[in-house]
Parts: sequence; structure tokens; C-alpha cells
Amino acid sequence: MDTVKKNNPVYSTSDKAKVEMTNEEWKKILPAEVYQIARQKGTERPYTSIFDNFKETGTFYCAACGNPLFKSDAKFDSGCGWPSFYEPISKESIIYTPDNTHGMSRTETQCGRCKAHLGHVFEDGPPPTGLRFCINGVVLDFAKAKEAEKKYNKDNQE
Ligand SMILES: [Zn+2]
Repeated sequence: MDTVKKNNPVYSTSDKAKVEMTNEEWKKILPAEVYQIARQKGTERPYTSIFDNFKETGTFYCAACGNPLFKSDAKFDSGCGWPSFYEPISKESIIYTPDNTHGMSRTETQCGRCKAHLGHVFEDGPPPTGLRFCINGVVLDFAKAKEAEKKYNKDNQE
């Protein structure tokens, strides 16, 4: 996968600098379906993501800014209809925010770099964490292992 995205100047799989932009600015650079979930906190219909039933080995990135979020090792089949992971790639990859909308008490997950809405985290996941990160596939990019590993390791050697 290319680390540069057309029309998206903030997209980077190695830059850790936080991204602060208005929704207006995001709207110009994100595809409509990514914008709707990342910036408007939308939810994709269950069982629609190509990453729901997806077994390839590699790394998942934030589709809005390129921040590495999850490794395929931490992906599991939750049956809930959205790509699910039991742990993020690092502590800083995710921001956790209480979400009391829709009459539920949940924890929202956002990208640690650009604050894109990703999904929610629940406490009914498998060991070792017992967590289930329930993530909208629309806001994920994927790079296959080898290339992704190499890139991730290179990016994090400084
Ligand atoms: Zn992001």
C-alpha cells in the first residue's frame, strides 16, 4: 500500500504528529463513506465490510490519517458483523471516550492521531485482554504482512 493518498496531505503511516482539522477540511479529502463514519460517527451496516470475514496477515491503519491501529494477530471472529480485535497495536493508537448515546453506556474508540471515530470497545472479548474492539471496516486500511511489517518496523525505528 502506498503511504501517500491522493488529495490527503495528512495521510502517513509513520508521522505521529496529531492531526487537527475541521470537518469542513476533512470533507474535502476523505471519501464520502469514510467521512460519514470517521467524522460524523456513523456506523456501517453489519456484515458489509470486506474486513469482517478476512484472514490475511498484516496491519490495519486508520483510513483517514494512516495511523497504525491493529495487527491481524489481534483480529478474531466475533460474529458481531464488524471487524473485531482484542487489542490495539499500541497504547497510543486509540483514544477512549465514554459514549452514552442511543440509551447505552458504551466506550467509543477513536484514532489516536486524528480522532476519527472507529467504533466501540466492549468487555466481552477473548483472552488475553477480554476486550472486543468492534470497528467499522470502512475506516480501516490494510497492508499485507512482510511489506506492512517492514514498513511498521522501519517507521518505528528512530
Ligand atoms: Zn486517524
